[in-house]
Amino acid sequence: MNDDILVRVENLHRTYKADGVEVPALRGIDLSVSRGSFVAIQGRSGSGKTTLLNCIGALDYPTRGRVWVDGRDITTLPERERTLFRRRHIGFVFQSFALVPTLSAAENVDVPLRLAGVDAAGRRQRVQACLEMVGLATHAGHRPCELSGGQQQRVAIARAIALNPPLLLADEPTGELDSASGAEILALFRSLVDEQNLTVILAGHDPAVAQFADEIHRIVDGRLA
Ligand code: ADP
Ligand code: MG
Repeated sequence: MNDDILVRVENLHRTYKADGVEVPALRGIDLSVSRGSFVAIQGRSGSGKTTLLNCIGALDYPTRGRVWVDGRDITTLPERERTLFRRRHIGFVFQSFALVPTLSAAENVDVPLRLAGVDAAGRRQRVQACLEMVGLATHAGHRPCELSGGQQQRVAIARAIALNPPLLLADEPTGELDSASGAEILALFRSLVDEQNLTVILAGHDPAVAQFADEIHRIVDGRLA
């Protein structure tokens, strides 16, 4: 870990309007995340974890405040640039894995490489490298239904890091896994942070994360405690 800040969140507010009622999901978040660190955001359901990750991941615009990722203020980027920025800088991992069921593990990892226009040889090499990083090189031809939940999440992680983004955002990535597979996924994040200089921000309430993360921040009603 070093002093280089990859993500900086300043006075972040996000208020949703639902049926004319204002729901304050985030109420003034300040957070700095060092490059090459594993940071966990823990809090109860509804505390604002997903909203915070979506604002850091340029999937949502804050109502107030600023978010810098890799030196860019993403809150002022126009939509088209945000999409490009996201593709190059941020990998996403979700609770539900979100793999394409008809594609093999390798083909799922290949999707972002295709979208980015990487040539066939480069894609083949990168798919293989990413599957190796998550320990699934021997399962390249398996479809999601032929893999365990933990293995499916590994494929989703391989896909998320295919374009070598500096930042990985993981929203309750162990939420659908038994505790042993969940711990393996957390250990995998730890090794990616240590060996690939990746930065991971993970939201969830899995207590096992304490063994693996560098920092744990607690979020309560849209504020960091
Ligand atoms: P968590 O991920 O910690 O469960 P969320 O960030 O999903 O929390 O939600 C925080 C708060 O914002 C909750 O009160 C939730 O109901 C509300 N919220 C989230 N998304 C929306 C939305 N699209 N419209 C209205 N309210 C929302
Ligand atoms: Mg959530």
